Amino acid sequence: MKRLPLLAVLLAACSGSNSRSIDDAALSDTSQGENWLAFGRTLNEQRFSPLRQIDTSNVANLKVDWFVDLPDKSGLVSTPLVSDGVLYFIGSMNVVRAVEATSGRMIWTYDPHVAERADRMRAGMNVSRGIALWRDKVILATWDGRLIGLDASSGREQWNTMTVDSTKALYITGAPKVFKDKVIIGNGGTENGATRGYVTAYYAATGKQAWRFYIVPGNPADGFENAAMEMAAKTWTGEWWKYGGGGNAWHGFTYDAELDRLYIGTGNGSPWNRKIRSPGGGDNLFLCAIVALNPDNGEYIWHYQTVPGETWDFNSNMDIVLADLAIGGRTVKALLHAPKNGFFYVIDRVTGKLVSADPFAEVTWATGIDSATGRPNEVPGARYETARANIAPGPTGAHSWHAMSYNPQTGLAYFPAIHRRWTFSDSAIDVASWKSPDWKFDPGVAYGVTGAARPDGLTGTLQAWDPVRRKLAWELPLEGFWNAGTMTSAGNLVFQGRADGNFVAYDATSGAELWRFNVGSGISAPPITYSVGGRQYVALLAGWGGAPVVFGGPLTAKYGWSYGAHTRRLIAFSLEGTATLPPSAGPQLIAPLAAREFGVDSSLAAVGSAEFGGTCDVCHGRGVISGGAAPDLRASGVVLSATAFADVVRGGLRASSGMPRFKHLTDEQLLTLRHFIRQRAEAALAPPPK
Ligand code: CA
Repeated sequence: MKRLPLLAVLLAACSGSNSRSIDDAALSDTSQGENWLAFGRTLNEQRFSPLRQIDTSNVANLKVDWFVDLPDKSGLVSTPLVSDGVLYFIGSMNVVRAVEATSGRMIWTYDPHVAERADRMRAGMNVSRGIALWRDKVILATWDGRLIGLDASSGREQWNTMTVDSTKALYITGAPKVFKDKVIIGNGGTENGATRGYVTAYYAATGKQAWRFYIVPGNPADGFENAAMEMAAKTWTGEWWKYGGGGNAWHGFTYDAELDRLYIGTGNGSPWNRKIRSPGGGDNLFLCAIVALNPDNGEYIWHYQTVPGETWDFNSNMDIVLADLAIGGRTVKALLHAPKNGFFYVIDRVTGKLVSADPFAEVTWATGIDSATGRPNEVPGARYETARANIAPGPTGAHSWHAMSYNPQTGLAYFPAIHRRWTFSDSAIDVASWKSPDWKFDPGVAYGVTGAARPDGLTGTLQAWDPVRRKLAWELPLEGFWNAGTMTSAGNLVFQGRADGNFVAYDATSGAELWRFNVGSGISAPPITYSVGGRQYVALLAGWGGAPVVFGGPLTAKYGWSYGAHTRRLIAFSLEGTATLPPSAGPQLIAPLAAREFGVDSSLAAVGSAEFGGTCDVCHGRGVISGGAAPDLRASGVVLSATAFADVVRGGLRASSGMPRFKHLTDEQLLTLRHFIRQRAEAALAPPPK
């Protein structure tokens, strides 16, 4: 071995992050475990670390090494990134911080001031799932639609690009992904108005647009952008463009460095109800699909549609994980995908053809996926054709955005599954005259959750799925349905944070629980692992949130993760840790405010209920049970005062905490909202019926 002069060794050791080039090669390097450079650790999105200092034999000794208390109030759901001893993460209100990865010491903070742009319901989405590192930059996307490049060493803004039409209720919660000196981002907001989904690639150095790919076709009279849109338009009927069509890509983007392709996971229809947007039927390309694009120009290569003619808020926005699988005596360059619809897909990413699809949860809308055509065999009636449909899964999916990891040593994929049963009916909706909403959540169909889909009553499990044997290797019961994503390691471990506040390590092969630590707050973010100076760390953000509160508030409130009651933290663990967390506030169950003197007027409350629905309940919960993502208004004294209520709701007094300004609301509308909120508070105060 050639000996390097001592000075050269010292220089190499001290050169730090400035000299490091975070490019495609670095992002693809699965052999190094020191850093966690990308959302899915490496470009293949496996969230698998080769580190093995912490393993099944010693994980029971894992202790808190350091922690940082954060001023954040809303949900922490993001994946931190680590590059050469610096940990970067995005928190509430899209504030980005850089800290020392060995101590948590703050290096810089960047605040994109999203509150100043807070307007109507879009502000309710004030969580972000992650950021990107590229060369000398940190790149973030804000919920109001900006993509921003920061200097990684100082946190100073270098460029700032608006990616959405600000007059529409579009928002971004997803992580931007980088590839080939570009960065891609989409957006959410399919249900908030007539939206036409798209993804856009920008140059990472400047923020200038490189290309845009629309997910659904526009009005044929305006001409098609490309041949793919012309092809897609043949699968739509009626005047779909008036409703936007949807398909918004809000989460899953994976760059395949090996095949030089970009995979986009697309969203549900706008509106959900196909009878409205495409009354003559049709597959409605490219809704609820994976679309492979040329990363240089955004040109279409292939697509695989998981739900043709989507009509249940199913989407394929979930993680797209790349893995080589040995199937039938050959190596399949596979893409692993567990979308909302309940089937686990293995797709040949060279051809876009289905390899296998099997239900990983209760699926009643289809009996299976035809292996020859790749299409689902739908159950008659599931489309609420003429009567109410009772189906599983539903709008929260059998799996949502929570990180799926894949361990090439065990050959298993790990993800939290959701087991809930739903109803859909449009019998009370005039389908022919339905109009797209304007800044209000309206899917064009009445829907609701009716309970657990499993006979044992469980609504959540942690699943280890074998994509080659096409079956569960193991599963474990979880509390509630909204549990965080996973990370897996060469130490044969799987880590997962849970809704009940426990951070748990499992044997990756057997699922045996090996360690647990209660962080004192519900966990919604996935963990990472990295190494500095020979010490392996496991880190995660602790702070309940990111749940679709409109569905989940009443179910998640039971943990007592009340808004503002539990300190949000970044916590790092190691085998040598000696830190101790301060005691948790413990569960804080909401006590509704007693104020009978308010005098609820039930007719005003009925009007207020309609006003509340589709807007306020996006954060404050259906039935005004927020479950901790926002204040539970049944306990709010602000509601008692017309002036105070107007200051907050219309005046934006709490915009900095994430409560948007609803400038358009009249005094009469505010009054009806107050009566509805007080009605729900009084109902919670009333003694239960004998
Ligand atoms: Ca949706």
